[in-house]
Amino acid sequence: MIVMKFGGSSVADGARIRRVCAIVRARRAQRPVVVVSALRGVTDDLLGLARASLPGDFRLLAALRRRHRSLAAELRVPFGPAAELLLELERLARGISLVKELTPRTLDYAAGFGERLSSRLIAAAFSRAGLASQARDASDCGMLTDGRFGEANPLPEASAALRRGLGRPSRIPVVTGFIGRTRSGELTTLGRNGSDYTAAIIGAALGAREIQIWSDTDGVMTADPRIVPDARPIAALSFAEASELAYYGGKVLHPHTLVPAIRRGLPVRVLNTFKPEHPGTAILAKAPARAAGVQSIAFKRRQTIVSVSNPRMAEGSGFLERIFAAFGRHRIDVDMVSTSEVTVSASVADAARLEPALRELRAGFAVRVERGRAVVCVVGDGIGSTPGVAGLVFAALRGAQVNVEMISQGASEINIAFVVKDAQVERAVRALHGALFGPGPT
Ligand code: ASP
Ligand code: MG
Repeated sequence: MIVMKFGGSSVADGARIRRVCAIVRARRAQRPVVVVSALRGVTDDLLGLARASLPGDFRLLAALRRRHRSLAAELRVPFGPAAELLLELERLARGISLVKELTPRTLDYAAGFGERLSSRLIAAAFSRAGLASQARDASDCGMLTDGRFGEANPLPEASAALRRGLGRPSRIPVVTGFIGRTRSGELTTLGRNGSDYTAAIIGAALGAREIQIWSDTDGVMTADPRIVPDARPIAALSFAEASELAYYGGKVLHPHTLVPAIRRGLPVRVLNTFKPEHPGTAILAKAPARAAGVQSIAFKRRQTIVSVSNPRMAEGSGFLERIFAAFGRHRIDVDMVSTSEVTVSASVADAARLEPALRELRAGFAVRVERGRAVVCVVGDGIGSTPGVAGLVFAALRGAQVNVEMISQGASEINIAFVVKDAQVERAVRALHGALFGPGPT
């Protein structure tokens, strides 16, 4: 069997859903399990509705109802099952306005409606087109998670539960991405863009031959095509390369996606719903045979650099430990670290959780915080041992007059990462792409 995941832009409207139906039909013999995202923009609207419900503003509810009702009409499928969910959503919104409280748990409950709605309409559209299908909520077919609302992870028993819930289906399952359920039955989400992760978890549990991530680019690109018009698709990447890219903000895959696939050695293929004949990008356990070199450039915006100084570093051991323990206690992800004799700089995502960690650090050290930064990462197997890559990278940045504020290379053989001002990141990425990949085919 294979898992086919379709993202929000692949299912944004009726014409696109018909396209998806044709793609699935052509692969019917491979026993697909389909995983779907919410219609594009719906998760944002649901989170917006939940927040606006606090002061009693339900306008987004009407917009969501209109959107799904007109999609049902366009697909000529009954609106009833979606309407029922929208009533449940309405009760939730009114509940939020009554209790005037919005917990992470409630936010997850609200956010999860998008996939529950889309899966019902898509399964009905498939069935209407003669492809017998059934909408399934992942939360009801074995996606058991921990209780970290907003960023839940599957529990060890989820694999067996998913096998029981999804094994040997008589109709094609159209499963909600993004959502899961705790042991005690509370709805959770796997984090924004988490549907890829859902697909990989299900693929690993069912032993899929391939996990297909269908989106709107020709696979993983050499850079974000919205910033670099010359960007081109990459035919093949190793698990290690693709993980670095996802982690450092490559837009195509959710960072956790590859973990279950890597564990089971399952190939992942990134494909284009709008060009199904394009081979896309194959992500495989081993680096494909090709010359070592840069494969892609990724970046993450809205990062913060925290620099912690201990004037007595020379005397004090345990300095690093105290810093990282503070980050760890507040569950702050550190991406890059560089140290000098007295200062440790770390780049972190600018999360709300940062403030309490900073308070702790300030009690013992001098702390400098620089916001509005971006981490850029150049990825390719073997670049750490390829002479001249770093030279090319930094010459290109100098040429573009971009100042580099922090550098790390060598932690892994496969990336060079550095920090620049957020305002300069697009310029930096364009200059790098030109220097490393040359002008695109015209
Ligand atoms: N609908 C969710 C989101 O927008 C999950 C996904 O699309 O992967 O984040
Ligand atoms: Mg996505």
